[in-house]
Order: sequence, then structure tokens, then C-alpha cells
Amino acid sequence: MKQLTETQQLKELIAQYRSEGRTIGFVPTMGFLHEGHLTLVEKASKENDIVVMSIFVNPTQFGPGEDYEAYPRDLKRDARLAEQAGADVLFTPSPSDMYKGEQNVAVQVKRRTDVLCGASRVGHFDGVATVLTKFFNLVKPTRAYFGLKDAQQAAVVDGLIEDFFMDIELVAVDTVREEDGLAKSSRNVYLTEQERKEAPMIYKALQQGAELIKDGERNPETVIKTVTDIIENTSGVIDYAELYAYPELTPLKTLNGKVILACAVQFSKARLIDNIIIDIDEWERS
Ligand code: AMP
Repeated sequence: MKQLTETQQLKELIAQYRSEGRTIGFVPTMGFLHEGHLTLVEKASKENDIVVMSIFVNPTQFGPGEDYEAYPRDLKRDARLAEQAGADVLFTPSPSDMYKGEQNVAVQVKRRTDVLCGASRVGHFDGVATVLTKFFNLVKPTRAYFGLKDAQQAAVVDGLIEDFFMDIELVAVDTVREEDGLAKSSRNVYLTEQERKEAPMIYKALQQGAELIKDGERNPETVIKTVTDIIENTSGVIDYAELYAYPELTPLKTLNGKVILACAVQFSKARLIDNIIIDIDEWERS
């Protein structure tokens, strides 16, 4: 595995791959890798000639008071895991290389951001879309891999690729979970022992909500009440529990089509997010 830190080095390497006609799978991450990230790399490795993984804790997607400084980092361990999973290139640029001097242009996301995490993390998805536009221009990927754990992010990237005519296939990958159902996340290390015991309730609550829909419930309020009632039994504080059309993230009076049931729960030091995406039409057909 090649490990690069300079944007210029990456550009030269990508130019070489492209001149050789190789397909490139790209897995952007913020590091502190776990099985969720590695599943993306393994999938990318099966579907492309070359896999580029980036590790970059992007300052522009963190708001004031968020955990930019405290975000867990362990590059040595990450490099070993990335290589084992099949990454060919690990790109770990510095913020000053990704954002050289004062920026002339930033990407502003106009839709799909006024709900879920976007509602409380103002500017977060602008930062995500801006850094991904930079990465996409550097890596020139054939396919880019995103986890559905961050389903709103995948919806925003879907819009970015479509609106800017980017010649990239977005591959959305199902959430990888711990045995007890908790979605794997770099932030899980910040849970106390007690919170770690309670945290799987989040997915259990979402599953209960999904069951209700499966049983024919079409009123979003009723489903959300079920979810919040269960999560309220934990010490976490619900930031949101919401249901929208996916990937449009628009509200629905009556549930139909593809929907996302998502929530965010704040524990003492970690804010956890999770979701279930349900294709109601498909369920009704089967
Ligand atoms: P992050 O490092 O948190 O920015 O995540 C990098 C990529 O890994 C994103 O596309 C995430 O959606 C994805 N990812 C994170 N956790 C999981 C998980 N538990 N299952 C699947 N993908 C994940």
C-alpha cells in the first residue's frame, strides 16, 4: 500500500493510473477505522482495480463546540487495517494542503440538509460537500463508497454528483453493526460502560418502528412515538427521531415509497446516529 500525504503526489499517481485505464474506487473517511470503514474498502477492492482511501478529519464540517480537536485519531493502526482490507493507496493530507490559503469557493448544499443532522449542525454538509468536491477532483474515482449509517450524507453526495454532472458512481453500503445491533462508529469509544449497555436500544427502537410500518402503520407520528418511547428508557437525550422520504428527505403525511426512519441520541460524550431505510412498495409487493 502506498501512503501519501501531499495532494501533488496523489495527483501524479492518479494521472498514472488513469493513463493505464485503471478503475478507481474511493473510500473517504475520517479515520479511527472500524469494520464499517473496512467493509467499504473490501467492497471497493472487489469492484475496482485500485482502491484509494483517504483519512482526513475535515475542519470545515465541524461546528464550534463540536469534537474536531477531540476526534479520535490513530494513523498507525489505521494504515495497517486499511492495507489488510485491500487499500492500494492511503491518502492522509494536512488541512493546510487541502485548504491552501484563503478559499475562493465553497460548496453550499441547498436541499436535504434542513432536517436530521443538518438541522442542528448548521454548515456541516457544506463542509462535507466542499471537501468531497476537492477529493473527487483529486482522486477522479470511478466509484465512491459511502455508508448508509450516514444516510443523510449519502443523500447529499447523491445530489452533489447529480447537480455537478460528476462522472462518479455512488455506492451506498449497508450499516455494519456490533453483535448487539449498535451501529459501529468511531465515536462509540466515548460511551461510558453504562451507556454502551444502553446504546443498542437505539437500533431496537428503530426496528420496532420499522415493524410497525411493516404491519401497515402509515402515520409517521405513531411510528416516531414508538421509537422515542423506547429510547427515552436510556440515559441518552434524543436530538431527533424523524421519518422522511429517502433520499429526498422531504416530510410525508402518509408513509409511502422509500422512507428513512432516523434518530440521533446524545450521550454524555458521544452523539450517536442510526437509521433504517424502508422500501414500503417493495415490502408490499413481497
Ligand atoms: P467517517 O470516518 O465516520 O466519516 O466514515 C467514513 C465512511 O464510513 C462514511 O461513508 C460512513 O458512512 C462509513 N461508515 C461509518 N460507520 C459505518 C458503519 N457502521 N457501517 C457502514 N459504513 C460506515
